[in-house]
Formats: sequence, C-alpha cells, structure tokens
Amino acid sequence: MKTIGMIGGMSWESSEEYYRYINEGIKEKLGGFHSAKCVMVSIDFSPMEAAMRSGDWDSITAILVDAAQRLERSGADFILICTNTMHKMAPQVQQAVSIPILHIIDATVTAVKAAGMDTIGLLGTRFTMEEQFYAARLAEVHGLKVLIPEAEERTEVHRIIFDELCLGSILPQSRAAYQQIIRSLQAKGAQGIILGCTEIGLLLRPEDSELPLFDTTKLHAKAAVDYALDLLGDEVMKSVG
Ligand code: GLU
Repeated sequence: MKTIGMIGGMSWESSEEYYRYINEGIKEKLGGFHSAKCVMVSIDFSPMEAAMRSGDWDSITAILVDAAQRLERSGADFILICTNTMHKMAPQVQQAVSIPILHIIDATVTAVKAAGMDTIGLLGTRFTMEEQFYAARLAEVHGLKVLIPEAEERTEVHRIIFDELCLGSILPQSRAAYQQIIRSLQAKGAQGIILGCTEIGLLLRPEDSELPLFDTTKLHAKAAVDYALDLLGDEVMKSVG
C-alpha cells in the first residue's frame, strides 16, 4: 500500500472528512483491521484565509510548497491537496517535489464521465468558480461544458463557504440557498453539479438535490484509496506541473 500525503487544514472541517473517507475506503477494500497509511501536514487556515482576501498568492504558494516538501521527506508516495481552491497553485507545488500530486479535478471527472455527463454546474469559492485554473482544466483537459452561477449567486456561495462552512456552521437556510442555485443551473442545462469546495458536502447530501452531486472530497479520497492500492488507472494521474 502506498502512503498518502495530505495537505490539510483548509479547513480542518473537511480534512476530518478526508481522513474518515480514506480510512473507510481502505477498510472497504482490504477488510479487517486495515487502515490507510497516511501523513497529513495540517496548515493553520487563518493566515491562508487572510492572504486569499488580500490576493497574496505568493505567500500561499510558499506555505503549500513547504507542506508538500515535508510530506515528501516524511515518506509520502503521492500528495493530495485537500482543497479545491489551493489547486490554483498545484503546478508550482508539483514542481517543488518529485512525488506526484493526485489532482482533485481529475479524481472528480472520472465519476462525471462514468455518469455519462458532459455539461456540469460548478459550485465553489469565487476563485474556483471564476478563475481559469479550475474551469480550464475541466473544459480543456476533460472536454466538459462548465456552467457557473450568476454573479450575485456566486457571492452568496462564496460567503457561505467562508462565513459558515469553514467555521463548522451548517445552516438550513444556506442549504436552501444552495438548492435554489442548483435549480437555476439545472434550468440552464446542468446535468450534474460538482461540489467544488471540500466543505460543501457537509451542507448538501445527495438526497438534498434532484441533480446528481459530485462531492470532490469524497471522490478525491476515493481516488487516493484506489491509487494507494494500485487500482487507479494511470490515465487519472495526469500531468499537474
Ligand atoms: N476547502 C475549500 C475549497 O475546497 C475552501 C477553502 C480554501 O480556500 O482552501 O476550495
């Protein structure tokens, strides 16, 4: 079994889910007392959040690179960046280590394609919804048509992530707001929704949506389990650097 390296803490609310899903996945495959071989470098999210607000992506990159290098020195065989937004810096992080990064988008798209979908709604932080690092990989590498919410809706999706979900607050009115936004994306042609933020799965369960939900936390963790056990096709480990 390979050792999984996780860059976590962004937020710890979702890292906890990763740890559980990964261990549940290994146990499901191997049974008995089996559990995951893993190492996590868990970052203090407060300075990261402040740096995102001020657009100081260089400081964020330095923190992520340091975390990745520490994972490599700890014996990790590959790396998960346990947040969608921080994949903005995935190429720089990949260049700083010699072990591969298992990209969250590539792990997620496998399930989207298996469901036979080509038009997908995307929810996440405003960086994830609006910047090219995410949409371009979905569109250009994977050939998906990506629909994002309207500007006002994006503001609300982003606000709920940082004011509530990353602080462990799960509110029914926010679930209802997300459900309404999903219905708008469905009306525009979305066949399914990528929960492109690792905390959204804490708010929305599959039964909360008429459309299939692709939870990046669950799918990234599942791909990590498969890769750790040599069950993941090499095509999923696309070049990140
Ligand atoms: N966990 C979130 C994500 O998946 C947001 C927190 C962050 O900015 O890393 O994008």
